[in-house]
Amino acid sequence: MQDYIAISTLNDFIFCPYSIYLHNVYMGGDEDLVHATPQTQGKAAHEAIDEKKYSTRKDEITALSVYSNELGIIGKIDLYKGNEKALIERKYLLHTIYQGQIYQLWAQYYCMTEMGYEVKHLSFYSISTNTKYPIDVPDENGKQELVDFITRFKQFDPTKPIHTNINKCAHCIYCNLCDKTETENVYS
Ligand code: SF4
Repeated sequence: MQDYIAISTLNDFIFCPYSIYLHNVYMGGDEDLVHATPQTQGKAAHEAIDEKKYSTRKDEITALSVYSNELGIIGKIDLYKGNEKALIERKYLLHTIYQGQIYQLWAQYYCMTEMGYEVKHLSFYSISTNTKYPIDVPDENGKQELVDFITRFKQFDPTKPIHTNINKCAHCIYCNLCDKTETENVYS
C-alpha cells in the first residue's frame, strides 16, 4: 500500500526535516501546548474555512479533502472558486511566500486536477492585509521539481545528524520540545 505524505508537512520539511518528526510525536497531544502565537492566529483563520463558515455560495468549495495517487500526497484545500477556476490558500498574515508554501499550493493543484477539477489560477490571500498574491500554475519543470522534492521527503533519514540554524530554531514552534538545540523559542 502506498504511503501518502500530508501536503501540510511540505513547508515544514523545507524549514527543518526534523520538525516533521516532532510534529508526528506531538500531533496527538494538546495542540495548544505546541502552537505558538503566529501559528495560533493562522489556525484561527483556517477554522472559519474548516467549519465551512466562509461561504455558502454554490460555486465555492471550502475545506475539500484532496489526494493524488500519482504523487502520493493527501491534504485539504482552503477555497476553490468554481466560476473562476481558482484555487486559493488563505493565510492570516503573509510577509513572504516561501518555496515550501508554493509547493503546498502546487500539490493541491495536482490533487484537484487528478480528481477532475479544472484549475486555471492559483493564489495566496493575506487575510489581515486583504491582499491577493497570484502564483503561476506549474509547468512540466515545476511538476518535476515537486516530484523530486517529494522523493527527498520520502527518503529522509531522521537518524542522520542534522544541521541546525539558531535563527530558524528560535522561530520554530517545536523549539521547546526539540533535543537538537538549546535555543529558546522567541514565542515563549
Ligand atoms: S528547533 Fe531547530 S532543529 Fe529542532 S525542529 Fe525546530 S528548526 Fe529543527
